[in-house]
Amino acid sequence: MLTKEIILNYLEAVTDPEIPVLTIQDMGIIRDIKILGEDAVEIFITPTYSGCPAMSAIATNIRLELISRGVSNVKISEQLSPAWTTDWMSEAGKTKLNAYGIAPPQYRTKQNPENEQDVVVPCPLCNSTNTTLLSQFGSTACKALYKCKDCLEPFDYFKCH
Ligand SMILES: [Zn+2]
Repeated sequence: MLTKEIILNYLEAVTDPEIPVLTIQDMGIIRDIKILGEDAVEIFITPTYSGCPAMSAIATNIRLELISRGVSNVKISEQLSPAWTTDWMSEAGKTKLNAYGIAPPQYRTKQNPENEQDVVVPCPLCNSTNTTLLSQFGSTACKALYKCKDCLEPFDYFKCH
């Protein structure tokens, strides 16, 4: 008998194509799982950034992983509301992201919640908060490019969303 727990366990093996250290569960994109039959499930996922081309790759990876486990009928449905937010990223995921060299999303300051420039982003390499925004867009649209003024290394910051 398939259960949600078994499926969740299988899905631990599915990682984000852009950030291979993060599982899709670290990303918080799995919203729900419905068992439809002995070898059939429906997985509800919420896309992260709409500009991210990774979602179709993620859906394919989910399908391949489950098929390899004998779950041959996998329906993947996108749940667009409520929209994904970086708050859904797990703490373990944020820690892994930082260790990978990408600064995890930070909460914006309360005084100026709309101002991305107001966010203090610690350097993932040396932990210094003496960092500066170089570009709103890093290696992908979901990330901004920062530079550390202490160790002088540029790094990606996974933007709040
Ligand atoms: Zn640094």
